Amino acid sequence: MTPDAEPPSVFPSAEGQCVVVRVDMNVPLEGGHITDPTRVLESLPTLQTLLNDEPRQLHILTHIGRPKGRRVPELSTRVLLPLLEEHLGVKVAFREDLTASDAPVQLHENLRFFAGEESNDPAFRAQLRGLSPEKYVNDAFATSHRAHASMVGFHGQVPCYAGLLVLKEVRALSPYVIPEKRIIPGLTVVLGGAKMETKIPVLRQFTGVAEQMLIGGAVANTFLAAQGYDPGSSLYEAEMTDDAMEILLQAEQSGTGVHLPVDVRCADGLESPLVLDAPVEDVMGSMQMLDIGPHTIASFREIIAHSSAIICNGTMGVNTHPRFAAGTREIFTAIAKNSGTTLIGGGDSLEALQREDIDPQQFSHVCTGGGAMLEYLSGKPMPGLQGLENL
Ligand code: ADP
Ligand code: MG
Repeated sequence: MTPDAEPPSVFPSAEGQCVVVRVDMNVPLEGGHITDPTRVLESLPTLQTLLNDEPRQLHILTHIGRPKGRRVPELSTRVLLPLLEEHLGVKVAFREDLTASDAPVQLHENLRFFAGEESNDPAFRAQLRGLSPEKYVNDAFATSHRAHASMVGFHGQVPCYAGLLVLKEVRALSPYVIPEKRIIPGLTVVLGGAKMETKIPVLRQFTGVAEQMLIGGAVANTFLAAQGYDPGSSLYEAEMTDDAMEILLQAEQSGTGVHLPVDVRCADGLESPLVLDAPVEDVMGSMQMLDIGPHTIASFREIIAHSSAIICNGTMGVNTHPRFAAGTREIFTAIAKNSGTTLIGGGDSLEALQREDIDPQQFSHVCTGGGAMLEYLSGKPMPGLQGLENL
C-alpha cells in the first residue's frame, strides 16, 4: 500500500451521510497485542475514502476471534483503537453496546460477543439497522462467505456497496475461480490450521478438483484419528472423524490424492523441554502432535515443487512457537518459490509469512481471507457479496 496514493472512489460520495462499514479486523493477538496488523492496514483505504467524503457519521463494525456469543474481554475490539486513530488521524469513539452516540467516527464492540451475529438473528439484524445508516459498505472479504447478521442484514434495506479491499480481492482471485468440478492437473491444495468444521466444506469442494491435497496442522490430526492412529493428547476433533473418513473416500473415488503426515513433531505441551520427531504410529498418551515432521516436510516439498498451481490456507503446526514453526516455514517457503500460480490466505497464514520473513511478492496473490478465499475459488456463492451495487 502506498500511503500517499489517492484511492479511487468506488461508491457514491458519503458526504453528509451516516455510513455503516463492515470490515474484517480479525487480527491475531498475543498477550493483548496485535501480532500482525495486516488486516487493519488493508481496511484503511476504504475507511480513508469514506472519511474524505466527510460523512455525518461513520460506524465501523468488525469481529475478532471466536468468542461464540459471549463477552470475552481479551477479544474486545478496543485493541484496535490506537492503530485506527493513528492511521486515520481522527478521534474514534468506542461503543460497547452497538448503539450510536453523537461522535462522528465510532468503532463498535466485537460483533461476535452477540449471539445474534453468527446465528443471523432477525432481532440482532434489526438492532444493527438501528444505527440508521444511509449507506452500507462491505469491506470484510475474509468474512464474506458467512451469512452473518452484519454481512447480510443491510441487504435490500439501504444501498449496499463493496469496499476497496473486497474489490481488490475479487479482482485478484476471479481469474482463478474453478470453472467446473473435474480434476485440474497440477493443482495442489495445501490445508492446515485448526477449526475442522470450517475446513470440511472446502475440503469437499476441492475433492475431485485438486490433483493433490496436502493436509497438515491440527486438521491432519483429525484425519489421522479417523484412520485409526492414536492422536495421543493432540488437538483434534473426535466428532469430525466420520466427515474426515468420508472426504478420504470421496477423494479416492474422484482421483484426488490426499497426503497426510507420516511423521510429526511432538511434545507433552507447548512449553515442554522435550521435543521429539516420531512416526505417526508411535504417537500415544501425553504426546501432542504440534508440527509436521521432517519426512513429511520433504515429501510435501517434493509435491509442491512439481505442482503448477498451489492454493494454501492454514499453518502446518503451532508456528507461533519457534520449536513448532519448521513445517509452516518450510512449506510456505516452498510454495513461495514455485513459479506457477500461488495463492495463500488466512489471518494466521499471513502472520506466519511476516513472522518467517517470507516476501508476499513471491506469491501470485496473498489474500486476507482463508476460508473466504477457498470458498470464492471453489465457485460457491458468497452471501456477503450478494446485492452489492458496485460488484
Ligand atoms: P488461517 O488463520 O490462516 O486461516 P487457521 O486459523 O485455520 O489458519 O489455523 C491456524 C491455527 O492453527 C493457529 O492458531 C495454529 O496454532 C493452529 N494449529 C496448527 N497446527 C496445530 C496443531 N498441530 N495443534 C494445535 N494447533 C495447531
Ligand atoms: Mg486463523
